Amino acid sequence: MTSGPIRFNDIYASYTEQRETIDAAIADVLAKGDFINGRAVGNFEKAFAEWCGTPDAVGCSNGTSALHLCFAALGLGPEDEIIVPAMTFIATSEAVMHAGARLVFADVNIDTLNLDPAATEAAITPRTRAIVFVHLHGNPTGVKEIASLAARKNLLLIEDCAQAHGAWISSAPTATPTRVGCFGQAGAFSFFPAKNLGAFGDAGAVVSLNPETAALARRLANHGRSEKYVHLIEGYNYRIDSLQAAVLAAKLPSVDNQVDRRNRLAEIYRERLTDLPVEFQQQTPDTRHALHLFVIRTDRRDALQAALREQKIETGIHYPIALSGQPAYASLGHARGAFPNAESDAETTLSLPMYPQLSPDDVARVCDAITQFFGK
Ligand SMILES: *Cc1c(COP(=O)(O)O)cnc(C)c1O
Repeated sequence: MTSGPIRFNDIYASYTEQRETIDAAIADVLAKGDFINGRAVGNFEKAFAEWCGTPDAVGCSNGTSALHLCFAALGLGPEDEIIVPAMTFIATSEAVMHAGARLVFADVNIDTLNLDPAATEAAITPRTRAIVFVHLHGNPTGVKEIASLAARKNLLLIEDCAQAHGAWISSAPTATPTRVGCFGQAGAFSFFPAKNLGAFGDAGAVVSLNPETAALARRLANHGRSEKYVHLIEGYNYRIDSLQAAVLAAKLPSVDNQVDRRNRLAEIYRERLTDLPVEFQQQTPDTRHALHLFVIRTDRRDALQAALREQKIETGIHYPIALSGQPAYASLGHARGAFPNAESDAETTLSLPMYPQLSPDDVARVCDAITQFFGK
């Protein structure tokens, strides 16, 4: 039995597994010297679109700019209200501000931790134009319900897929599954190094089933250009760089296998922890969870985290404060209790070690430590 530290995530382990192909991809960009809008960008965009099942994908500078590009390409701006879950990373709501639109929070479902359909419907006003569904921790459960709600209310649906590379929903066992990013009008991905598909710096992508939305996002990301010094519109410098694109193209073929490995580790966690007073994030049987994070909820979260730290087991908290309670959003004037599920999640959720190279023995050790903590 080992007793060394157990890391929460290990992005270096993923590099060492694929070092040869990644190093070769980087060397190729260095040899060509086409660092901006180079061949690697087009190659990655094509491969990523194919993987997502969309006609196009637009590489960009990070996941936050990807969300902003989705909003801008769909024509969202001042006066428009965009509904965002009260429990997500702040990039989701920051992008609403970048678009100049109005931020409206809705509570999450305490079981799935994703947007609650009833709470979302209640947040709709005559000014609402769009809903952002965040596949929190990689869980796509509930996106179809929110997509129907959006369709029924004539609203746009944007998916925040930053944590959900490899997540999908299958309508029948033999059907080709629908990957996240394809349930609404546009989807935003982040390739921050720690994500399921991580670059060696910042990067992101926009996908859309509508080629015109993708084309406008691409134009906006590159100064509104049609030619080098012809600018059809004002845009942004939101480009992905060729080195990141090359790294991502080299890593993309292994993402599905890595998500399978994450799911197998999650199975061990669920089996071993099932009799303990902890709640798991719920998913419907037709979904593949991308398992960016494996979270449990317990009222004794802080004590459990401290006990695990004693045993050199690293954990995380995603996220310790609901967005509605963030100092940055004090001006929105949300009282405590306005988003009870998001607030409860912030106080009870603990993210356990999870990465593809984590060993089943280490997962067992984490489970032993948690079992010991609850005195069973
Ligand atoms: C990581 C993340 C983002 C933004 O990604 P960046 O690439 O860091 O800008 C957006 N939304 C969610 C839910 C994320 O986890």
